[in-house]
Amino acid sequence: MLKIDDLRVHLDADAGLVRAIDGMRLTLAQGQTFALVGESGCGKSMTALALMRLLPDNGRIAGGRLDLDGQDLFDLSEARMRDVRGGRIGMIFQEPGTSLNPVMKVGAQIVEAIEAHTPLRGEAARKKAVDWLRRVGIPEPERRIDEYPFRLSGGQKQRIMIAMTLAAEPDFLIADEPTTALDVTIQAQILELLKDLQRERGLGLLLITHDLGVVSGMAHQVALMYAGQIVEVAPAADFFAAPKHPYARLLLRALPDAERRGEPLAAIPGTVPPLWQDFDGCRFEPRCDRAMVHCGSTCPSLSAVQDRPAGHEVRCLLYTDPREALMRPAARPAETAATAKSSTDQANGKRPLLLEVKDLKVRYPLARGLLGGTKRWFDAVGGVSWSIESGRTLALVGESGCGKTTTGKAIVQLLRRVATIEGQALLHPPTDAATGQGGAPRDLFALDGEALREARRQVQIIFQDPFASLNPRLRVQEVLEEGLLALRPELDASARLALLHELVDQVGLRRDALGRFPHEFSGGQRQRIAIARALAVEPRLIVCDEPTSALDVSVQAQILNLLRELQRSRGLSFLFITHNIGVVEYIADEVAVMQSGRIVEAGACDAVLGSPREAYTRTLLAAVPRVERRTAA
Ligand code: SF4
Repeated sequence: MLKIDDLRVHLDADAGLVRAIDGMRLTLAQGQTFALVGESGCGKSMTALALMRLLPDNGRIAGGRLDLDGQDLFDLSEARMRDVRGGRIGMIFQEPGTSLNPVMKVGAQIVEAIEAHTPLRGEAARKKAVDWLRRVGIPEPERRIDEYPFRLSGGQKQRIMIAMTLAAEPDFLIADEPTTALDVTIQAQILELLKDLQRERGLGLLLITHDLGVVSGMAHQVALMYAGQIVEVAPAADFFAAPKHPYARLLLRALPDAERRGEPLAAIPGTVPPLWQDFDGCRFEPRCDRAMVHCGSTCPSLSAVQDRPAGHEVRCLLYTDPREALMRPAARPAETAATAKSSTDQANGKRPLLLEVKDLKVRYPLARGLLGGTKRWFDAVGGVSWSIESGRTLALVGESGCGKTTTGKAIVQLLRRVATIEGQALLHPPTDAATGQGGAPRDLFALDGEALREARRQVQIIFQDPFASLNPRLRVQEVLEEGLLALRPELDASARLALLHELVDQVGLRRDALGRFPHEFSGGQRQRIAIARALAVEPRLIVCDEPTSALDVSVQAQILNLLRELQRSRGLSFLFITHNIGVVEYIADEVAVMQSGRIVEAGACDAVLGSPREAYTRTLLAAVPRVERRTAA
């Protein structure tokens, strides 16, 4: 057993002393998975770093014990701790790119771990390394073992990292978002491998993740963290069947899926409070939908929940001090962006066509011949056809590299200079309200000059990483004005400012946001800025390329609510590119499944996801980890 008792971690920051972990207790047993969940900034990753004694320079362990076989690891010398680290306790980090040595072949790095922590040497260690590469799903492991990290994709680097950690045969593994960078099918394979190791060798796993689906499939115990403290801990089955803390209930209600379709998701308002402040009451109080008058002045402690299995504890006054009479007159509802049912569900009748894509092929040049001609090509998209109606959402799903993002970028005209595009993308003009007739469609790929500019206005894109897609040197006002100046030159300065005010109101930002820089905002707020930028030029179609995959569950819910509301109020269409099947079930009307540059199955969302005909679709759906809903949370 690995036992953490009253762990406290402090960080020195400009704003003052940050209490990143404030009195944590948990026990990790061999052969068991303990999942630590919560939003970004709750202290999950800091816990992992503290357990490995790898805190940043401004951090220190301010108190507590980390007990392994009766020995407090916080008392060990650094030399002895090095043996424990990577030997008895392994760790998989979140960012594989920075965890591998870039000037060492991947095989040599795995062999180094094997030789340091097992009796195997030389050729036997190399054979074992090949074996581990195979177990984590690296194709052609005999060849790939001699590659340098830079030749591998992000997902492959993550698998190398996992192989290297497991090769040392640790008793305990701390895995910080180990599968976030991986496709669902590879993720399923890695999770299965971890389960096998638990069965074979009794591996104890501390799993840190924000993916409640993964937790549901893997964990024996779950601890939910909020603002540096555990607020609920329970056997996994009981946590999902009967979550007690209001934060846990809201998180589960924020998960998108088919059941919640047509209704707004519970999006928890506000953000995790800064941890340099002193708390007089419950840390969740400003965001809690069940807060009572005394919650702001009484600190709840972690206590056993009555009538639940042993080990279910919660930090909430509702269970220890239920002075219901003092409850606020109206409990604050969880934030919802829309109360009406989506128009997409109200009107499932035929709508006018907006975009028809016919036999789209995208090829990238790989190598040039002696005379400058292209010698080799990579066919990223090999002839796909689909269409979107006005006010509807089509989801493109599939694994990384299947061509879904390339398809989206081709439609938004981002690949004109770097790839060869064939086929047609016919953009239909809006129908005339009086006659109900539309004009002739125009092929986006055949346009140039003014016609191309006008088409660009109608089709916009939102990217996965809102920070990378916003110029850090421009204030939000300049970011939003850029598109307006280029695509709506008819607007004068005062009309532009009025429009910007309207836009920030609509995406739920304050007007003073216009004067600030992107780095001053959270991930969710930055994604709102990116949405406002797309909306500024009044598009009819927005390509949403994994717009929520970098966000916490609660922020994802806010963004999905916003997109649904915009579809309802503006009649927008979305091409939604994602690997998150729950999001697809929640938001999409139609779905097209892509594999190796082709569409293997397409149709109405319910039909394709409910009774898939193709084996690939079934494999993809089977690999998706899901939270089994056993509660009306
Ligand atoms: Fe909400 Fe009060 Fe419980 Fe905190 S103690 S979670 S504010 S009900």
